[in-house]
Amino acid sequence: MITEELVQGAKQYLMNTYTRYPLALIRGQGTRVWDVEGREYLDFLAGVAVNVLGHCHPKVTLAIQQQAQHLLQTSNLFYTEPQVRLARVLVDHSFAGKVFFCNSGAEANEAAIKLVRRWAQQAGDQRFEIISMVNSFHGRTLATIAASGQEKLQKGFEPLMPGFRYVPFNDEKAVAEAVSARTAAVLVEPVQGEGGIRVATPGFLKACREITRERGALLMFDEVQTGIGRTGKLFAYEHSGVVPDVMTLAKGLGGGMPIGACLATDSVAAAFTPGSHGSTLGGNPLACAAALAVLEVILEDQDVLGHCARMGEHFLKALIELQAGCPVITHVEGLGLMIGVEVTINARDIVQDLIKRGILANATSERMLRFVPPLLVSQAEIDRVVLLLGEVIEARR
Ligand code: PLP
Repeated sequence: MITEELVQGAKQYLMNTYTRYPLALIRGQGTRVWDVEGREYLDFLAGVAVNVLGHCHPKVTLAIQQQAQHLLQTSNLFYTEPQVRLARVLVDHSFAGKVFFCNSGAEANEAAIKLVRRWAQQAGDQRFEIISMVNSFHGRTLATIAASGQEKLQKGFEPLMPGFRYVPFNDEKAVAEAVSARTAAVLVEPVQGEGGIRVATPGFLKACREITRERGALLMFDEVQTGIGRTGKLFAYEHSGVVPDVMTLAKGLGGGMPIGACLATDSVAAAFTPGSHGSTLGGNPLACAAALAVLEVILEDQDVLGHCARMGEHFLKALIELQAGCPVITHVEGLGLMIGVEVTINARDIVQDLIKRGILANATSERMLRFVPPLLVSQAEIDRVVLLLGEVIEARR
């Protein structure tokens, strides 16, 4: 089918939940994707920060092929080796003692919200409230839109689930004032993604840790977007050295296979007992085999994390240099390969122009461009994107 037929088909058969770009993709390899008409694009969106190893990485593809020949799904009423092995790798490389698997970032946060509420109740406390950040994004389920500090996500779905309060991001004083005897946890994205891009300062994260510890509440990090190497470390919390009690993952974990995870310390994880939470497909052998391959490549094969950190620095520097001669760009911010560029003109128009020049990126708002390429992106590819971005902006001035 050609793009136009797919656009019409989607209009007829899909619920209208996305404003899509008029582009139908059929194939991907590394940092490149191709549309159904055969045009090539450099993919600096990577499935919205998902394809950390690019498209169709040979090891991930092979792991999926091999696992698909044996067992796809068993439910969680039985044990499977990929799930136990994956949990062990995550535990071995993080603060956590236990993992719960699900299928998406929103589900991972649902699990985390349920876990901290139950933890608080079991401690005999009156604590249930979760304090999250203004402009945060934690998913699209009813609990996670209530957790997200963005009214536009919540509008029309009221009454919202109670028990959430919002404080300004990077505002230590506001957190100190908000955390009370009712607070079960503070929930933070170490780098705000959908509502950003904004990087939490190490001082802010440290303050969140100290305040929650002093007052008997938990600290939760939503690393759905920042986790699995995106910021140049396996988990973004490693930059600050601030260790949470609970962390959620999804996006990059499966390298493109749907999988989410809620990680917690042993003592917090003990709040879940058989029957308190579950997922039929969560942690199925296929998704876990893909995630194991992703982690194996990142941790053992090549210096993926070092490369990501170096490319992130280069990208940020190049964008800041571009900004110096381009008043349309008002701010550049990011960590590793998660970078936002704030502009004074419509960011969605810039994205459309970039697509016409063979670059995929997106806009998180009217004024913010987001670049989240595969972690294996080359310097030459970054330079090309910066050059074309400059040209596109120049043409619109
Ligand atoms: N949390 C964060 C920080 C995210 O960036 C996202 C998605 O963008 C989510 C949660 C929700 O993840 P999903 O779309 O897989 O439900």
